[in-house]
Amino acid sequence: MLNNSEADWLHLDVMDGVFVPNISIGIPTISQVTGISKKPVDAHLMLIDPQRYISIFRDLGISTLTVHYEACNHLHRVVSEIRLAGMSPGVAINPHTPVELLADILEEVDLVIIMAVNPGFGGQGFILHTLDKVYRLKRMIDLRGLKTLIEVDGGITLGNVGMIAESGADVLVAGNAVFGADNPAEMIRKFKAINSGRTKK
Ligand code: ZN
Repeated sequence: MLNNSEADWLHLDVMDGVFVPNISIGIPTISQVTGISKKPVDAHLMLIDPQRYISIFRDLGISTLTVHYEACNHLHRVVSEIRLAGMSPGVAINPHTPVELLADILEEVDLVIIMAVNPGFGGQGFILHTLDKVYRLKRMIDLRGLKTLIEVDGGITLGNVGMIAESGADVLVAGNAVFGADNPAEMIRKFKAINSGRTKK
C-alpha cells in the first residue's frame, strides 16, 4: 500500500524499552520492511547507545538514520560515523529539549526531528509549543545558510498539518492518522494535497 501511495518516505520508530517505555520492532521486521519498500526508509532510533547499531542499519538499507540528542554523550562522533557509513545523519529532540542546544551540531546533520509528543507510544496529542520550536530552528538553519530539513514527529492530523507546515517544517511524520484511517492511501493523498508546495516530504 505504501509503495503505491503518495508518501515520500517510510518512517520507522525503533524503540528499546529503555530510552522509551516501549518496544516496537526489531531487526528481522525492519529487514522485511526494507526488503520490500520502494520508498527511502527513515529510521528513528529511540534507544540508548545507538552507535552500536550503525553498521546494522547501513546493511539493512536505511537512507536516513536519526539518533536522539538525549541518548548520546558523544553526539558529534555518532553523527560522523553515520555519515561515514553512507547514510544521512539526523538528530531528534524530545519535547523538553530546546532547539538552541543543537547550535553546534546543526552543520553536521541533514535532518532534525522535533518530537511533538513524548516518544514511546503512537496516538498522542500534538504539543502546541512544538510550533515555536520549529520556527526557532528554522531561523537558526536559515541564518547559517544550511539546508537541514526539519521533521516533525507525533500527533499530526489533517487538522493541524497546515499550521505545522507554515511554522517551517519540511517533513511530516503521520502514524496513527494514516494507519488508523479506513483508507490509509487516501489519507496520505489528503495530507499531500493540504501541504502541496509547503513541505518537502
Ligand atoms: Zn519517529
